Amino acid sequence: MSTAVVVGSGPNGLTAAALLARKGVEVTVIEAAEVIGGGSRTAELTLPGVLHDSCAAIHPMGVASPAFEQLGLEQHGLQWLWPEVDMAHPLDEMPAAWMVRSVERTAEGLGEDGTAWSRSFDSISKSFPGLREEILGPIVHFPKQPLRLARFGLPSLKSASRYAARFRTERARALFGGAAAHSFSPLTDPMSAAIGVALVTAGHAFGLPVARGGSQSVVDALESVLLQAGGRIETGRRVSDLSEVEDFDIVLLDLAPAGVLGLAGSRMPPRVRSAYSAYRYGPGSFKLDLAVEGGVPWTDEACRKAGTVHVGGSFEELAAAELSINRGVMPERPFVLVAQQYLADPSRSKGNVHPVWAYAHVPAGYPGDASGAILDQIERFAPGLRERIVGTFTRSTLEFPEYNENYVDGDIAVGANSARQLVFRPRVTLDPYSTGIPGVFICSQATPPGGGVHGMCGWHAADRAIRHLAA
Ligand SMILES: Cc1cc2nc3c(=O)[nH]c(=O)nc-3n(C[C@H](O)[C@H](O)[C@H](O)COP(=O)(O)OP(=O)(O)OC[C@H]3O[C@@H](n4cnc5c(N)ncnc54)[C@H](O)[C@@H]3O)c2cc1C
Repeated sequence: MSTAVVVGSGPNGLTAAALLARKGVEVTVIEAAEVIGGGSRTAELTLPGVLHDSCAAIHPMGVASPAFEQLGLEQHGLQWLWPEVDMAHPLDEMPAAWMVRSVERTAEGLGEDGTAWSRSFDSISKSFPGLREEILGPIVHFPKQPLRLARFGLPSLKSASRYAARFRTERARALFGGAAAHSFSPLTDPMSAAIGVALVTAGHAFGLPVARGGSQSVVDALESVLLQAGGRIETGRRVSDLSEVEDFDIVLLDLAPAGVLGLAGSRMPPRVRSAYSAYRYGPGSFKLDLAVEGGVPWTDEACRKAGTVHVGGSFEELAAAELSINRGVMPERPFVLVAQQYLADPSRSKGNVHPVWAYAHVPAGYPGDASGAILDQIERFAPGLRERIVGTFTRSTLEFPEYNENYVDGDIAVGANSARQLVFRPRVTLDPYSTGIPGVFICSQATPPGGGVHGMCGWHAADRAIRHLAA
């Protein structure tokens, strides 16, 4: 029987482990933290009984994931739950823009820009389910459905600001801008539209659900598949050198390129080592979790019903904030992402005290406390929030790497989403999961298709590892 070790138990590591175990490989997962899950964990961060997602909150890519579907996570306890409004974007002195799964209803809500929104997303969101395997994988590949894929891919080559120019109203531009800003890139950069197009398209195709009981239940389901297939997991053990795991036939590393270098740099071919050393990390994040009595008092009704609220004002304001963090300057009004998972999943709340999840985009390694800036931004659209807060928890860019060392300088996306790294990550190669060391593969979100709880990096890396075993 072949043996495999997976270092790191994030969603990608566990997906790779579960797939390998199902193929009859004897799999061991080794995790540095005491708890499995990496960026998909849930904890009582503020008050007993109030469940906060430590990192990932909203799962359009999880519900769309071919890997999770193949593993049958719903038979292992995972349940997706959808809020009434998928995404809302409050604006000064006008109604919030909002998105629901139906393109038609969203278009109606966008008034003058409804036709432009439908033209942009109706057809591609209908073809998204059939294209997901191709989209959620290396961009450079031989396409199975070239024309349909091109309809999705070509608009993604644009900058977010060029893409947004098709909309005439501030509401539609901001709604798209909030999705595009998930890339952490300057919104004028080439391909900075890509993540926004993918997020809105997946949102229209599958909605923006949360996982019942918290994002931890995604990794708990993966663990259950793995254990059922005979795999084992060791927690509380950090692997610091490849020699600790060299008895295994294959090694998969759910690590940032920096972590791979730390573990195996001296054994990597020089060209791969220098490519990993040149890998660019992106801006940082500052996380603020709140326990809020009665929930956030948003002025706008759509925000009160939305699972995801993008707080940052107009497209131009978002673009200025994102440019600023990329230049290393903390903006006065940062882009803030808010999630209200409890609206779809009341089991997260304790009575009338609800968990509210928020984080701001900040410069890489920003040492300051961004809580005040985050609260100011939310209060701009929800006056009175501060009086309702009964518990808080923060995690700064300096604390993120203590939680998970993949987050270099607080970069939760584990790599800048520059055009180059969107196409080729972690290095320019047609074999992105290979580290250049025979039998050693990288499977983290630093590989295609990049960030998100979807397990697809692990899926492709496991496939690559199985081909290595068969060779
Ligand atoms: C604040 C925040 C919000 C997010 N929001 C969303 C969201 O709403 N939706 C979404 O889909 N995604 C979101 N994400 C992104 C998502 O969490 C990641 O894309 C995903 O977790 C990546 O999975 P992974 O398996 O690549 O690695 P990770 O989840 O980073 O897991 C890597 C694991 O490896 C372990 N490890 C590292 N080094 C070692 C070592 N040397 N030895 C042993 N173990 C080691 C770490 O402890 C960690 O458990 C968010 C992330 C953060 C931080």
